[in-house]
Amino acid sequence: MSVGILGGGLAGLALAALLASRGHSVTIYERDRAGGKLRREIVGGLSFDTGPSLFTFPGVWRAYLERLGEADPLALEPLTDGLGTHHTPFGAVPLPVPPGHPLHSAWETYRAKVQPLAHPIVALLTTPPRLTDPVFLRASRTLFGVVGPHLTAESWIRAQRMPPALAHAIRTHALNAGLSPADAAALYALIPALVGAEVYRPAGGMGALLNALLEFVTVRGVQVREGAEVTGIKGATLTLNGGELAQHDLLVSAMDPHRLAALRGLPAVSPTSERTVSGVAIYAALPRAAPLPATSVIPPSDFQPFRTAIRAGALPPDTLALVHAEGRRLAVLLTAPATARPLGLDHPWVRAQVERVERTLGVPGLLASADDVQALTPEHYAAGGHPGGAIYGAALPVWRGGPFHPQPYRLTPRLWQVGTGVHPGGGIPAILGGALMVDTLLARA
Ligand SMILES: Cc1cc2nc3c(=O)[nH]c(=O)nc-3n(C[C@H](O)[C@H](O)[C@H](O)COP(=O)(O)OP(=O)(O)OC[C@H]3O[C@@H](n4cnc5c(N)ncnc54)[C@H](O)[C@@H]3O)c2cc1C
Repeated sequence: MSVGILGGGLAGLALAALLASRGHSVTIYERDRAGGKLRREIVGGLSFDTGPSLFTFPGVWRAYLERLGEADPLALEPLTDGLGTHHTPFGAVPLPVPPGHPLHSAWETYRAKVQPLAHPIVALLTTPPRLTDPVFLRASRTLFGVVGPHLTAESWIRAQRMPPALAHAIRTHALNAGLSPADAAALYALIPALVGAEVYRPAGGMGALLNALLEFVTVRGVQVREGAEVTGIKGATLTLNGGELAQHDLLVSAMDPHRLAALRGLPAVSPTSERTVSGVAIYAALPRAAPLPATSVIPPSDFQPFRTAIRAGALPPDTLALVHAEGRRLAVLLTAPATARPLGLDHPWVRAQVERVERTLGVPGLLASADDVQALTPEHYAAGGHPGGAIYGAALPVWRGGPFHPQPYRLTPRLWQVGTGVHPGGGIPAILGGALMVDTLLARA
């Protein structure tokens, strides 16, 4: 069968390799460069892999490799400080909390509650959500057993009565769903325990993941057409920039669902619709190594005003910042509302957030000392993704935000979809797991 995949981000590439392994003839159409949000940029002579920085749930990657029959080319290296130190208003909390730390026993209590889900989570991330599937059913039952009656992350965390510093650090990880804890499904409160110390980066940087996927598709004869923007879809016929037409037996969209809707001539997304967060990603080449640990997290000081602002599309008074330092490389990722704004380095809100980060970490003026700095803004993320630049696409109602909702994989018999906008909390594990699910369902169709 001839398959056209729309979008050459990680999701499009991952699925292309699986489908080509089944003998299909696959072409990927990518408007820009393959890799999507993961791309290599040079700043001040140093190379930076933009987009994802933490590789979690390696079990999903292993399941993906097993399906492909490939050995692991990545050489994943554990990050020594795990999810990093969380600078909460109640004190600094390293996650996972190490023995000897005053919060260690509270962390262990939390971890023990989540422990039953440690293995089933990989099944939930890789098995199509079908109530007829015993693997999915068993894993779902375990998840229900852990979250109990709590719908949201905030509700679950409150019920645990943890020390405020630990609760604040754990709340931060609701943002793995791109949502504040009161809007994210309870599952997201379990992420720090489920990830634990299993936080990795490939030895060759995150770009090595892109290279691996490109290698997998190349050896399977997939055609990757970079610079080929899809400008219209009718049935299974694509129109490309320049007017070329391309016909396939099956199309799989690996782009944001709103972009797909526009290409199909369906109504445009409302500018006020709920969406996950966007970000300002700042990459700096420093004159010398920064005196910082590998990962630092500066959560919002109060999640309530943060939530109100993000929901209204306004700039929160203080936002979540993630800081990665590696030699002379510094990356500062600021969470921002998904309103496609060009929030550059000179914007007063960005300057204030950077100052807050520097003050908290005790490195005033660090960014100003950089040899070169580049920022990717919500405007950038909107250019190839959700119209507001929402990193994980539209926000789903909380009951649809976990693995239980019937993901809209099959839009018509000849048009399917995969990728970030289809899988809640669409980071790398959700994307690779989603590619496995779509591969499974297509093989059965
Ligand atoms: C700053 C940042 C930090 C992140 N950190 C992490 C992390 O630490 N860990 C983690 O697991 N995840 C992280 N993520 C999430 C992860 O990077 C993304 O979810 C993932 O890369 C998205 O892959 P995708 O293929 O679904 O979408 P995309 O990468 O958005 O790919 C979609 C592709 O479709 C193409 N396209 C769009 N329209 C058209 C068209 N008309 N014709 C042809 N092609 C088209 C786009 O150009 C793009 O290449 C982060 C993301 C960001 C932005």
